[in-house]
Amino acid sequence: MVAELSQLRDKIDAVDKQMVALLAERLALVAQVGEVKSQHGLPIYAPDREAAMLASRRDEAAQQGVPPDLIEDILRRTMRESYASENDSGFKCLNPELRPIVIVGGKGQLGKLFAKLFTLSGYDVRILGSQDWDRADEILDGAGMVVVTVPIHLTDGVIRRLGNLPADCILADLTSIKSEPLQAMLEVHQGPVVGLHPMFGPDISSLAKQVIIYCDGRNPESYQWLLEQFQIWGASIERVSAIEHDQGMTLIQALRHFTSFVYGVHLAEEDPRLEQLLAMSSPIYRLELAMVGRLFAQDGSLYGDIIMSSPQNIAMIKRFHQRFGQAIALLENQDKAGFKQAFDQVETWFGDFAGRFLKESQGLLRQANDATHRG
Ligand code: NAD
Repeated sequence: MVAELSQLRDKIDAVDKQMVALLAERLALVAQVGEVKSQHGLPIYAPDREAAMLASRRDEAAQQGVPPDLIEDILRRTMRESYASENDSGFKCLNPELRPIVIVGGKGQLGKLFAKLFTLSGYDVRILGSQDWDRADEILDGAGMVVVTVPIHLTDGVIRRLGNLPADCILADLTSIKSEPLQAMLEVHQGPVVGLHPMFGPDISSLAKQVIIYCDGRNPESYQWLLEQFQIWGASIERVSAIEHDQGMTLIQALRHFTSFVYGVHLAEEDPRLEQLLAMSSPIYRLELAMVGRLFAQDGSLYGDIIMSSPQNIAMIKRFHQRFGQAIALLENQDKAGFKQAFDQVETWFGDFAGRFLKESQGLLRQANDATHRG
């Protein structure tokens, strides 16, 4: 039996080696695609091509008795690698005439990422860091675009120091809040203004499928090339007003980060043994722990700034707190009927999304389970 198993395992190893060789061949082809896309200014993420390719491979897999989800998982993971490697070829420069881009805060986490992407796209990038203000006139001289990306609580003050930009210079910011910075930019600069919010942190491997929100400020025709440049990098762009943005972020960021923060505080106070919790966890709890834990691997001041950036955030958090209290009352009263009634109301509110989220989360949980090592 041992010999038989060992023979089969040798054959599996040989197949796996072929898979490695095929992946190497695929990555080499992708690198060539990257070159062509970079020369012609095509976006690294092509949603229609991706959907058509996956549909064909799923069909072919099904015909050969391979589960379609398996080939889709493999290809999606492979494509992620491909998107990251397509960055290496650089990107077509959509506005080669643009004078230098100055990134204020360009040594910070997000500033560095954008400095790299603009440089990879052939723009002349200058950095204005916190220690450089004595040379600011020299650095800002003749700027074609200025991008402000400093901590939220310093943003307004920094924008107000940018009063003397060339009239046609584009003034932009990457701040996680939009109303206040946009207002400040419109006040200090009479030329083109755009507010941007990248919905990702510095740890992404490529911009493929990442979202950049933009809020028009002034003279949008002057910065259409910038929005197209983001798409060439692979990003999706979403246009909203600054007010809508800030309202949305109250839920998407402030409340989300705050509940993670409180859960972290609660865990630290309760002080369970994390190793033991992990050893006993279901994939969903492991994922939850990862989502909470990752917050505390980042910059506390950034999250404090985001949560406390507006009175609306605090009002939303207080409403959540109130509902938490109401839900606890259901438990204290052993009100199972009330619990079920609230549950059903929420289910109705989610509508079709509930089923869609169940399916989407199943995929994530399978991946979380795959990544687990127990031994
Ligand atoms: P960061 O602290 O890593 O970088 C900020 C940079 O600004 C630092 O290099 C700092 O030295 C510099 N700076 C501080 N004061 C300055 C001044 N007066 N003049 C010039 N430079 C100055 O922060 P970050 O995470 O890169 O965030 C920057 C901005 O990007 C924030 O507005 C934040 O809301 C936004 N943002 C961050 C993320 C993220 O995940 N990090 C995501 C989306 C948006």
